[in-house]
Amino acid sequence: DSILTGDIQLDEEGQDSVLRPRSLHEFQGQSDLKENLDVFIQATKARNEALDHLFISGPPGLGKTTLAGIVASELGVNFVLTSAPALEKPKDLAGLLTSLPEHSLFFIDEIHRLKPTIEEMLYIAMEDFEMDIIVGQGIGARNVRIPLPRFTLVGATTKPGSVSTPLHTRFGITIRINPYTHQELQSIIRRSANLLHIAISTEASLLLAQCARGTPRVANRLLKRVRDFAQVHQKSEIDQAITQLALQKLQVDHLGLEEQDRYILRTIINVYHGGPVGLQTLAIAVGESAESLEDFYEPYLVQQGLLMRTRQGRTATELAYQHLGFPITKSLDS
Ligand code: ATP
Repeated sequence: DSILTGDIQLDEEGQDSVLRPRSLHEFQGQSDLKENLDVFIQATKARNEALDHLFISGPPGLGKTTLAGIVASELGVNFVLTSAPALEKPKDLAGLLTSLPEHSLFFIDEIHRLKPTIEEMLYIAMEDFEMDIIVGQGIGARNVRIPLPRFTLVGATTKPGSVSTPLHTRFGITIRINPYTHQELQSIIRRSANLLHIAISTEASLLLAQCARGTPRVANRLLKRVRDFAQVHQKSEIDQAITQLALQKLQVDHLGLEEQDRYILRTIINVYHGGPVGLQTLAIAVGESAESLEDFYEPYLVQQGLLMRTRQGRTATELAYQHLGFPITKSLDS
């Protein structure tokens, strides 16, 4: 299984919660964003109100859920968590909203996947803190508007462009979490190593940071795998040598690419002469769903300048040829 892309393993859940920061102070990096949030939190607390609705976007594993949990705990309010696909029927949403304690943070993950009927219910709930419910059945059925407690909706998404404008504009605060710098990832790795009670050298933490795809979740997973190698090789500290060995065994290269990333690029180069190749065709060729190709693999390959997404399809860049050691056999400008 891919260590970078797989769902959180059950046996790692416990450790993941140990590593999860609990306060803005513990949340590494993203200093501008934290500073603003801190102001909004302090002001809201002073007014004894519910925080304005908060929209958080950013790639997977960058800390959207973590940050929402922190905001709730800094505000000292309840944190209720669900995801859009879990809200199938209006009664699912009604059940949650009517039982929220006052000023709660109500977190909906993957908010771009809301059903239209649920989304419309949310408009009224967000704006007027009321909700329409149907009472009775058949011809006796009627709409009743009931009041809701004041709450803060936190909508998180990896695809902000897929969120409808009417929903998007109902959020008072919008934040975007961008990939972390190597330095920020290094401090996340050092903090995690500390919490896992393992020593790590500066060189090793930098090496891991460089391979972590700008993503704290990947940084933590790599750290745990390297820790396994250090333990079996009876090292009391994670040093550069054991990190290099582990990364080599895990087939993670110095850009943080895994075998599947390289396979995607190799397929474009070998089978489609460097591209362009359409998303659906490429997905079938590499055995991935178009969605995981688009959401997980491609953003990092594009960021690294290895892949171009054009209207005609996907194209491997000159850098991709160089990175994989292929001679450049055609004009890449075409
Ligand atoms: P997804 O979109 O996949 O749900 P997410 O953006 O909600 O991901 P989280 O689950 O919040 O990401 O974060 C993943 C892990 O990364 C957390 O368990 C946490 O330990 C760690 N993490 C995230 N951000 C930070 C940070 N700024 N500082 C330290 N650790 C972090």
